[in-house]
Amino acid sequence: MKKKLADIQWDIGYDKKVARTGPNVDRTKELLDSTGCGFCLAKFTQVTMHLGTGMTHACHHPVPHKIPLDEIEKNPAALFNTSHLKEARRQMVTGERPSECDYCWRIEDNNSPSDRFYKSLEPWALEKHDEIQAADPNQDFFPSYLEVDFSNVCNFKCVYCGPEFSSKWVEELKQNGPVKLLENTDHVLWAQGWQKDLDSLSYRNNEFNPYIDAFWKWWPEAYKHLHVYRITGGEPLLSKETYRSMDWFIENPNPNLEFSINTNMGVPDKLWDRFIERATVLSSGNYIKKLTIFTSVDAWGERAEYLRPGLDFEKFRQRYEQIMAMGNIRITTMVTFNILSISSIQKLFEWQLELRKKYNPNPVVAGLWEKETGFNFAYPGESYTDRDKKTKSHPSINGIDLPYLRSPSFLDAQWASKDLIQEYLLPSINYMADHTTQTKTWKMHHAFEEFELEKFKRVCLNIAYNSRNDLEGNRDFTLNRARFYDFVNDLDRRYGTNFLEVYPEYTEFYNICKEMKQKVVNKDV
Ligand code: SF4
Ligand code: SF4
Repeated sequence: MKKKLADIQWDIGYDKKVARTGPNVDRTKELLDSTGCGFCLAKFTQVTMHLGTGMTHACHHPVPHKIPLDEIEKNPAALFNTSHLKEARRQMVTGERPSECDYCWRIEDNNSPSDRFYKSLEPWALEKHDEIQAADPNQDFFPSYLEVDFSNVCNFKCVYCGPEFSSKWVEELKQNGPVKLLENTDHVLWAQGWQKDLDSLSYRNNEFNPYIDAFWKWWPEAYKHLHVYRITGGEPLLSKETYRSMDWFIENPNPNLEFSINTNMGVPDKLWDRFIERATVLSSGNYIKKLTIFTSVDAWGERAEYLRPGLDFEKFRQRYEQIMAMGNIRITTMVTFNILSISSIQKLFEWQLELRKKYNPNPVVAGLWEKETGFNFAYPGESYTDRDKKTKSHPSINGIDLPYLRSPSFLDAQWASKDLIQEYLLPSINYMADHTTQTKTWKMHHAFEEFELEKFKRVCLNIAYNSRNDLEGNRDFTLNRARFYDFVNDLDRRYGTNFLEVYPEYTEFYNICKEMKQKVVNKDV
């Protein structure tokens, strides 16, 4: 028999909502499976749209599919209700498992909990369960979690990115040709630039884009249903649609909305000021529930600039601190952890720690002590009383996320030499572990959170364990190091840089990679 939300005994959290606990994950499975073994609320509530290319997927795991133009011409809601998605939803409520969700099926077939349960348990999905279960799967749904990129226009050409996401990469490949590694060997690899027509990858900012046209037709009803709205890119601050979205919420508040914007924080001053002006309004009134900025940097100083051509690291730091000083906006640093992050990641941690001490609030206890005693308990920076006044929507306004880079594979940190791991990587995790929030009531949020340490621990252990395979003749190590060697030389040729001047501590590793290249040339692989 099909179960309803009320048929399940949920663990309830301090906010009186269904908590995200382990037992509740099992209960979500029980609930969903009562409709069908492939039933997942994310298919009906969460979407990632790539409007520059007209692709979409729900959720982000299945391979994106093209949104048919004839469908959005008739009905703009087809952006989230393509015939493809309707068919997948139909399968889900009739006991089938749509093949595009194989990411979850592989996990479940191994008797592990998949994202079907975790995502369906999210508040933006679970509360819609009964409504979705009773609905016709062929009807139009509105997402409660929408992630969108409007184009690939970007002012950076980060070394691990490419022309699909960055127009600067398009220019680069047109000017200086494709990035081909290990050319004239049996292992040639086109790292970038294999696409036939670089110009047709994405609509440009100044071109009519029927997907964006449909988006704004759909939006006046769609925005009312949103709990999470996240704009990614390209570089969102170069897209007028980002400012249009911010203006929309100033004029049409949605107090349930968690609004996030990704930015490299490197746009010209005029655009930056335009963004800050709107962010100030949105974060200070009751227009939305909370505003979060996600930004990226993967190393420190000139090393970071080498990894992200276009970055002015000093300007990045200033703007980062400007956002933190504003108070009610959370800013999260995304470190795409790669082989070139290893030697300076600790410097990045030290800086993050300094900012947390200077700007994070402590609304539970220290603010109260200040009221009772009249002292300023905070050091350094403003008193907790003043910080707490500014920061209403977020308990902490700084975070760090460390997703592990797997592609392109030659930048994967697991190919690092044992010296780099011992001298730089392991001290950096020790540093983080020595600076986690231990005492919850005194310096709350003034150090790294346990979940941040957990994530970095997984990264470090993965690298340390994989380094056991770094043995003479290991094919993966040989090929990836040989490719790394070609790649940094290609970057230096393109940008007039000198890898070893920026990364002198990688000299030994670079020489190992050079030897590996020779092995490939000698067909010794
Ligand atoms: S079943 Fe898995 S892949 Fe499919 S929509 Fe749900 S979470 Fe995403
Ligand atoms: S800023 Fe983002 S979109 Fe632009 S090149 Fe870097 S990773 Fe790609």
